[in-house]
Amino acid sequence: MRQIEWIVLHHTLTEDGQTVNWQAIRRYHTEIKKWKDIGYHFGIEKISSHYEILVGRPLNMPGAHAIGVNQNSIGVAIVGNFNENIPERSLWDKILSFVFSLAMTFSIPAERVIGHREVHILAELGIISEHYKNSGRKSCPGWNFSLNVVRSRLVDMGIPIRDDGLFARLYQFDKQVVEKKKIFW
Ligand SMILES: [Zn+2]
Repeated sequence: MRQIEWIVLHHTLTEDGQTVNWQAIRRYHTEIKKWKDIGYHFGIEKISSHYEILVGRPLNMPGAHAIGVNQNSIGVAIVGNFNENIPERSLWDKILSFVFSLAMTFSIPAERVIGHREVHILAELGIISEHYKNSGRKSCPGWNFSLNVVRSRLVDMGIPIRDDGLFARLYQFDKQVVEKKKIFW
């Protein structure tokens, strides 16, 4: 099994602003991009009235979702557009319980649960190669999606912080990002 050190959250907003469902993403990644499997390891999608966890590529296979950390991360994509929409309470509950179990299973500290848009901070801090300083420099998983909410709730649930400096830098960045929009929690 490969070493897993990060959990990276995404939303599925496409470049043209459309959201697509899990099976459509899988078809796009395998049939158009010709990848071995969908780029993410897991998905979260609302199916009728409930959020479900969907399985993507096997965990022992590196993902294709976040340049710079693909080799040692798990990629989780939430089907939706959180530049436009605000995550609902039942979605937060689903994300938190799922990410909590992944963090426990793989001994991942709270500050290593990140959003795609935060990868460049790891390069800035020298945690990954500075070659990746422009990686993921976009809104994903959405301006209305606060990674601080995820990380602080995980800490409340008992997931430790191992690197205070990284936790603090990510906190500051997420606050800036989310304040451009609105407070939603
Ligand atoms: Zn992303």
